[in-house]
Amino acid sequence: MKLHLSKYLLLSLCIGGFSTNQIKAQSNDFGNIPYQNPLNIPIQLAANFGEIRTNHYHMGLDIRTQQRENLPVVSVADGYISRVYISPYGYGNMLMVTHPNGYTTLYGHLNSYMPDLAAYVTGKQYKDKSWQQDFTLPPSAFPVKKGQQIALSGNTGGSQGPHVHFEVRDTKTGMHYNPMLKGFTVPDNIPPNIQAFYWYDKRYSAYQSGPNTIGILGGNGQYKAKTVLKVGTPLIGFGLRAEDKTSNSPFYFGIYKAQLIADGKQIFQFTLNDFDNEQSRYVNAGIDYKRKMSGGGNIQYLYKLPGNQLNIFGGTVNNGILSLSDTNVHHIIVNVFDAEGHETNLNLEVQFDPEMHTDENIVTSDKMIEPNRPGRFSTPHADFIYSEKAFYDILPFQMKEAASTNTAQLSSTIQVESGLIPIHDFYTIGVAFNNGVPDNFKQNSLLKLLSKNAVYYAKGQISGNRLIGKFNRLGNVSIVLDTIAPKIIPINFKNQTVISSNSQLRFRVTDNYGELDSVEGFVDGDWLLFVQRSNTFTYKVDDHFPMGEHLLKIRVKDLAGNVKEETYSIIRK
Ligand SMILES: [Zn+2]
Repeated sequence: MKLHLSKYLLLSLCIGGFSTNQIKAQSNDFGNIPYQNPLNIPIQLAANFGEIRTNHYHMGLDIRTQQRENLPVVSVADGYISRVYISPYGYGNMLMVTHPNGYTTLYGHLNSYMPDLAAYVTGKQYKDKSWQQDFTLPPSAFPVKKGQQIALSGNTGGSQGPHVHFEVRDTKTGMHYNPMLKGFTVPDNIPPNIQAFYWYDKRYSAYQSGPNTIGILGGNGQYKAKTVLKVGTPLIGFGLRAEDKTSNSPFYFGIYKAQLIADGKQIFQFTLNDFDNEQSRYVNAGIDYKRKMSGGGNIQYLYKLPGNQLNIFGGTVNNGILSLSDTNVHHIIVNVFDAEGHETNLNLEVQFDPEMHTDENIVTSDKMIEPNRPGRFSTPHADFIYSEKAFYDILPFQMKEAASTNTAQLSSTIQVESGLIPIHDFYTIGVAFNNGVPDNFKQNSLLKLLSKNAVYYAKGQISGNRLIGKFNRLGNVSIVLDTIAPKIIPINFKNQTVISSNSQLRFRVTDNYGELDSVEGFVDGDWLLFVQRSNTFTYKVDDHFPMGEHLLKIRVKDLAGNVKEETYSIIRK
């Protein structure tokens, strides 16, 4: 994560051989229509398509903006603005342009939209009484020309530094294309690096045994194992840590394709061509999740887990698991590619030795979860219900409970596995309140999940003596009481503050659990447009604030339902 943050925050970079090449059509597959860069500067990437992120593959290109905001963002081709999305998270301020060739492009983390669109969006926000938006537009509303400025770049939403997130999607299916394969390329003559190579004992599942390191030598596209790998199991799988580099960026990117060849025959391949947003969470099935969550980096499997439904695999035999039926030496080649076709090879010899003892610490349980099958487990005070998509491989499941000694906690702590095990979708958990918890406390309670040092809350629904809610991570679940309302902290105003047409009103909100349900501002009861950045809310004075002295009311509600209201008398001159 640190490495990723630094990509955007680094202020001075030594960029050897900085190229002024703009994105160019090397193999113009963008529906055979001419297009240009989304920015009027040389393109330098901070991230490519397919990079491994928390719970998803990166689904577009992150284009650097010279550590600056407010650079003009232009439409890459003729088309029309087809969707607008505004959120404090994710894409931030985003828009999409639909082109006549069947492609739609997406531009994220923007600061502002072109003036006529901005005016339309503001009108809609006032009409809906909501700053957050997600709506589509017809072709006639905002047609745009190739090269026309559509927005200014920024750093909004889930962004760690100024950049534009750019995507190419199929207009009909919404499928995400790898933009590097649609002609949007950057200068690159460097093959991927293989940082480390591993093998797994595939008599066991991904959650029963861990990786074994294979020593490798080499660089510049050619690697080999230091020695013949001898294993005491007839079933093995491989994994690698690899990264790609381009010629004009100091950063490392995700690899595009990997191939495993055993004795001259391909037994596994993945290619990050294009896939669906919904499928992106399968990244957790494509990597050694336990290792990642333990801080060991991203090992990408060169085999497919049984519950991995992502459509990136081609030509696999036995899901890429090597079956050693004899004690001969077998030749393994791993080929790793970037999207420009640069190739890196790794050569290895492997031999099965039945005399060898390779059993390590194999995790087992009396509750074994099978992939691709829904199920349910219960303890005296909790139920855990999961879907058929939940688990990618056989899981020796652990679920226990422990009584709480904390008075702010209204239940036992239910340990549902740990944050080291991935779960694909939301599961349902019902937790019983401790005996004697009064009804008014139940109304103000939340489900709390502690998963690998991160805390999540869910509102939950009361059903009898249980609170039932959903999470999509595993860990320790309990019920906590929240009777403390959020705090409203004005930043640049107080009672009797005088404002004018170019003023802003800004406040911050804090909450004991950091879980806000809604934040609203009103003048004399009429809704005002406050823009959210993290936990700061800003209103830029416009026609909605009348001249003279008026009552500004701010109303904040947290997830548990606690409400705080403050009013201020503000004078507009
Ligand atoms: Zn991005």
